[in-house]
Amino acid sequence: VFSTFSSDAHIFLVYVRFGPGLGGIGSVLVERGTPGFSIGAPRAFMSDEEWCELSFTDCRIPAENVLLGPGGFKQQMAGFNVERLGQYRAFAGLWPLCLCGGARLRGDTRTIRPAIVRIPGLQWKFADMAIKLDSAQLLLYRAAANADRGLPSAYETAVAKAACNQTGFEVSSEAVQVMGALGYSRETLVEYCMRRTRGWMIAAARSKC
Ligand SMILES: Cc1cc2nc3c(=O)[nH]c(=O)nc-3n(C[C@H](O)[C@H](O)[C@H](O)COP(=O)(O)OP(=O)(O)OC[C@H]3O[C@@H](n4cnc5c(N)ncnc54)[C@H](O)[C@@H]3O)c2cc1C
Repeated sequence: VFSTFSSDAHIFLVYVRFGPGLGGIGSVLVERGTPGFSIGAPRAFMSDEEWCELSFTDCRIPAENVLLGPGGFKQQMAGFNVERLGQYRAFAGLWPLCLCGGARLRGDTRTIRPAIVRIPGLQWKFADMAIKLDSAQLLLYRAAANADRGLPSAYETAVAKAACNQTGFEVSSEAVQVMGALGYSRETLVEYCMRRTRGWMIAAARSKC
């Protein structure tokens, strides 16, 4: 369930159970068109990203499509940490939009009124937003920089993910507030940042490993 962009995908990485317990979990690659494998109708998340439900009924795959056999779960999760860092790096790219109050609108040069930005109460908010964003970003860079000789540490990745999630949502929500109805409008990217971050607070979660 919730497999993002699967309506466009050709190859699917599927976690499977070969046996009981954590040690019984591994992964396989399933190709589109494999008999018994079906992709449900696309539905949309709050962020407008599409997801589909995948079904597997007596689905047989060739042995060479076994990616990680029993006991491969831990290794799979180590790779997943790389994916998480990449996603949050991309996401951090949206943050400056929030910090500058989404000053530029898509295809439009209107800016937030300078008089509002000069209000001291709001300047304190911008300062807090900058501190939070920089702190989260440094945690993200720590995890990425320490991984340059191998896979990222599970601890550093988890800390970075939690910090990026919380900061991204708080800051984008604050940016929406500061911009008023304009921030709440679909015309701005600020409301998009808020919707997108909310999803990442749920996605890419993991169990013990
Ligand atoms: C934007 C987005 C993209 C996604 N893309 C994909 C994808 O491409 N492929 C894919 O496979 N999946 C994808 N997912 C699904 C995602 O992996 C799951 O949503 C996520 O792992 C959380 O699982 P869940 O939704 O079943 O929530 P649940 O596990 O049911 O958790 C719901 C809530 O229950 C509570 N809870 C659950 N367990 C505990 C516990 N042990 N202790 C205390 N409280 C608990 C928490 O409050 C938690 O927030 C995506 C999800 C989102 C939002």
